[in-house]
Amino acid sequence: MSLRHPVITRFAPTPSGALHVGHVLAAWQARRMADAHGGLCVLRIEDIDTERTRDPRWLASIYEDLEWLGIRFDGEVMVQSRRMGVYAEALGKLRSLGLLYPCFCSRAEIRAEWESMARAPHTGEHMRYSGHCRDLPEERVSELLEKGVPHAWRINMRRVEDLVGCPLWEDLRLGIRRCVPSTCEDAVLARKDTPTSYHLAVVVDDYAQRVSLVTRGADLLEFTPLQRALQAVLGLPTPVYAHHLLLRDARGKRLAKRDCVRSVRFLREQGMNPQQLLAALQCAVERGGVWEG
Ligand code: GLU
Ligand code: ZN
Repeated sequence: MSLRHPVITRFAPTPSGALHVGHVLAAWQARRMADAHGGLCVLRIEDIDTERTRDPRWLASIYEDLEWLGIRFDGEVMVQSRRMGVYAEALGKLRSLGLLYPCFCSRAEIRAEWESMARAPHTGEHMRYSGHCRDLPEERVSELLEKGVPHAWRINMRRVEDLVGCPLWEDLRLGIRRCVPSTCEDAVLARKDTPTSYHLAVVVDDYAQRVSLVTRGADLLEFTPLQRALQAVLGLPTPVYAHHLLLRDARGKRLAKRDCVRSVRFLREQGMNPQQLLAALQCAVERGGVWEG
């Protein structure tokens, strides 16, 4: 294990719904890891998706629930929607390195293509992009751009590999891993009115907040290689990672974030106090992630 000091962890919720026991585990894990190493734990609000995070009540309720739980954070809160200029700059760097290409595929087209390949091996539920627009002839690209056809900007992960090779990263539980960029998805890094995406903002902001230990749920593990590759092309240092297990119900089904009976608010209204909630989480962790309730 090779933690770098100072240990700075973070909790990075998206205010698109109520705080849920899964979020509490992530926040608590980040706080505890920081405390165990005499470090800091910072908060970041991931609200670049203006559609999903439009209702300001979610953000207010996240702050309220964290306060009620007694999980505190160090320093200033970072709010992604206020940092579009910083992301645009990072995107510009990737563009000048020749790593971006426009993708003109609609969601429906990507879905249809993905479903037609449904027998091919793929991980998780994530709908992976095939790279359809990666090698469109230049004239065709200019023509579509001139016509104003809607498009997103994707990163060419094969070119990323040519540029930075296969960088290493470390997870405290899983050990040293090698990222093979060409096996990662050509993710969307920007859309028409948004000069960023989750992946780009996470990488830029973990650096800006001097995060040295990323603690987060194992559902994001599949994206860590891609984010590691982005750090490499942007010349940013890589944090150490600690992906924690996900909560499941007694039947083994992963707890859904939409499930309101596992929201902090609901449990609070049921009469649970913060100590009981954190104790229940501790039990769940000891049972390998099984949340009973
Ligand atoms: N905002 C993401 C979420 O709420 C977390 C991103 C991360 O930890 O990298 O799932
Ligand atoms: Zn495309």
